[in-house]
Amino acid sequence: MYPDSGPSLITTIPGPKSVALHERRTEVVPYAIPWSLPVYIDRGEGPYLFDVDGNRFVDMGSGIGVTSIGHGNLAVIEAATTQLRNVTHTLFGILPYEGYVRVAEFLSEKTPGDHKKSSVLVNSGSEAIETAVKVARKYTQRRGVVVLDHAFHGRTNLTLTMNHKIIPYGLGFGPYAPDVFHAPNSYPLWDGLSGREAAARTIQFVEETVGAENVAALIFEPIQGEGGFIVPADGYLPALQAWARNSGIVMVADEIQSGMGRTGCWFASEHFDIVPDLVVAAKALAGGLPLASVTGRAEMMDSVQRGGLGGTFGGNPVACAAAIAVFEEIETRELLRESRRIGRTLEDGLCELRKRHPVIGEVRGIGAMQAIELTDPETGTPIVGSAKEISAAAASQGIILLTAGSEENVIRFLPNFTTPDSVIDLALSILDRALSDLENDTRH
Ligand SMILES: *Cc1c(COP(=O)(O)O)cnc(C)c1O
Repeated sequence: MYPDSGPSLITTIPGPKSVALHERRTEVVPYAIPWSLPVYIDRGEGPYLFDVDGNRFVDMGSGIGVTSIGHGNLAVIEAATTQLRNVTHTLFGILPYEGYVRVAEFLSEKTPGDHKKSSVLVNSGSEAIETAVKVARKYTQRRGVVVLDHAFHGRTNLTLTMNHKIIPYGLGFGPYAPDVFHAPNSYPLWDGLSGREAAARTIQFVEETVGAENVAALIFEPIQGEGGFIVPADGYLPALQAWARNSGIVMVADEIQSGMGRTGCWFASEHFDIVPDLVVAAKALAGGLPLASVTGRAEMMDSVQRGGLGGTFGGNPVACAAAIAVFEEIETRELLRESRRIGRTLEDGLCELRKRHPVIGEVRGIGAMQAIELTDPETGTPIVGSAKEISAAAASQGIILLTAGSEENVIRFLPNFTTPDSVIDLALSILDRALSDLENDTRH
């Protein structure tokens, strides 16, 4: 087990070596690439990240839910190292190898539904979403792509068009992809609608402004990630699924952030009793190596002509070896249970904080995917931009917290599944103090 003593800071933050690296970076890396904290990381172990100055941080973000089975996982290291020695590349579309097939087998087994499935492997979440749209368009012979408000789907031309926020993802990058339509979502804290009401609103919008028969795919995140861990109201997703089935629309679950055990199930769709036609995974799929997947109904995937999907690096052998180790680790070390344990600890702790801090408008999430939304206690409206202040205060105490939300007023927690309860409690006590400071600031 890892030391449960939490963070250990031995220099000012950032330390002198990080400051020097940051100066070098500023010379050669563009302004467009941001940072949350200008500390330069040297190595990771379990729930901790160590910077170049020897400071130890508690990582409550896992690089946006990527290193879910922990930093420095020995099974991933072993599998990837062995594969590096054996062969690093053949291009699966030219000369195949077993690792790709094994990952596809795992995905068929672990994604929702027991229908016949097949999988394509690519390099990034954005590329996987693009691939899913290609499959849906080919299969339906339709063009329309419907996405939901507060969605985030990526940074390529098509996927940036699919995002809710044009700032920063799309500003100045037009022309944007055609045939993308943004429909209202279910956001219980803001809209107060039941799942049935919110679904009726989404469906009415699509039928009036797009026409169901023009829609190839409805793409949704079961729990919206960048949008602020928005959990849709009960019954929302099943109602959308029933309507999509009747209308011949392909349901694509973007489980890039919510999948691979993050919510305590393999895929978050399971919590909502839906079986999407296509499921997209990426972030935590290969333990930090770049790999993404589209898993779908065999008849949909097989509607695409030979050579129509794939790419040079897609399903790289080293990334596949790491992904196999991730699947095996989650199974053999019962990490879904650990994800649920972390969810309970976080949710209980955050609900305790909410009693003392009226700026916490809501605690929400499932499993190890939890968030708090910061709202004005008097008006209930978002405290725009407040999340940054909290994450900066936590970082100065050695806790890495990620922000989210269209109004930048959500703190999201994505600790990895090896994080002991005691370390989470420690992180929450630091958050406690940061919230008091925020409350003092907003009062003055
Ligand atoms: C991160 C993310 C993406 C984009 O993935 P990239 O690998 O950055 O292209 C898409 N959808 C969701 C829900 C994500 O969290």
